[in-house]
Amino acid sequence: MIYNRIALIGLGLIAGSIGLAVRKRGLAGETTGSASTAKSREIARNRGLVDHVCKTNAEAVAGADLVILCVPVGVMDAVAAEIAPHLAEGATVTDVGSVKRAVIDAVAPHMPGYVEFVPGHPIAGTENSGPDAGFAALFENRWFLMTPTESTSEAAVARLQDFWEGMGALVARMDPDHHDRVLAVTSHVPHLIAYTMVGVADDLRRVTNQEVVNFSAAGFRDFTRIAASDPTMWRDVFLNNRQATLEILGRFTEEIFALQRAIRRGDGEHLFNHFSRTRNIRRGIIDAGQDTAEPNFGRSAGGL
Ligand code: NAP
Repeated sequence: MIYNRIALIGLGLIAGSIGLAVRKRGLAGETTGSASTAKSREIARNRGLVDHVCKTNAEAVAGADLVILCVPVGVMDAVAAEIAPHLAEGATVTDVGSVKRAVIDAVAPHMPGYVEFVPGHPIAGTENSGPDAGFAALFENRWFLMTPTESTSEAAVARLQDFWEGMGALVARMDPDHHDRVLAVTSHVPHLIAYTMVGVADDLRRVTNQEVVNFSAAGFRDFTRIAASDPTMWRDVFLNNRQATLEILGRFTEEIFALQRAIRRGDGEHLFNHFSRTRNIRRGIIDAGQDTAEPNFGRSAGGL
């Protein structure tokens, strides 16, 4: 047991997975949680995501020595303001938001001096959201990035690290701005590209009469999985990581124009060299144990 009482604000995919993992691994004396709608609170209660489902965020954080903000990035400010007067002395407040600089700017000013704030981001998720989506194994062998501020005590950071390692995660520390640039490359812009491609295919479908759906091969299907991700969460990611995503999108646009020119000019060497380089990146991800080497992610059927 690492904390006596853990409060989860929000009871969606990430909070639900934390709640189930905490119980399975005995990491807390008890857990509380709150969500904005009665429906989500009821599902959370039925699934046993936490020990006590509370009606208000203030009720959930009372007496907690760890509070985890598991809400969309766009409401972090309002939630932090709401819970601040109810936080216990000596409590650690952390979050799981996909963007770090904007969350720090939104949450830190509300935190009383007697509370430790340790921002963080688990690099784990699925395209599903809500209180039905969580599962205890979500964080196993996945990274949790901590972006502590200068005022955070080392003891609070170390304890939070023990907690995430207790859930089976790998933990690293990172500067928040660096985090936002890295995630723009590895997650945010890829999601935008998937959203774009699926939108283009949907427009074409009107012309080609169901062909896009009927002959949906693995490449496109992988895009559709990513493009099914929660619209609120992803709207907030782009609104709050504007600078880094625009920078990476600029580079992406340059690169796609270079590939476009190579296709037009019949420059097979350019295409082959580019595809060889990217194939090696996939190998690196598999070697780092962050994905399966099985063809087509181990799915039984599917073409290219
Ligand atoms: P989610 O499944 O949509 O859950 C969000 C939860 O927040 C819902 O339970 C929602 O309640 C609750 N909520 C919204 N406003 C609230 C408020 N004012 N007070 C209390 N609860 C409130 O989202 P998620 O995927 O778990 O994402 C949560 C956070 O984790 C986001 O910041 C996201 O950026 C980050 N994250 C997501 C992933 C991913 O792949 N999904 C990965 C890493 C990090 P209702 O259900 O009642 O509306």
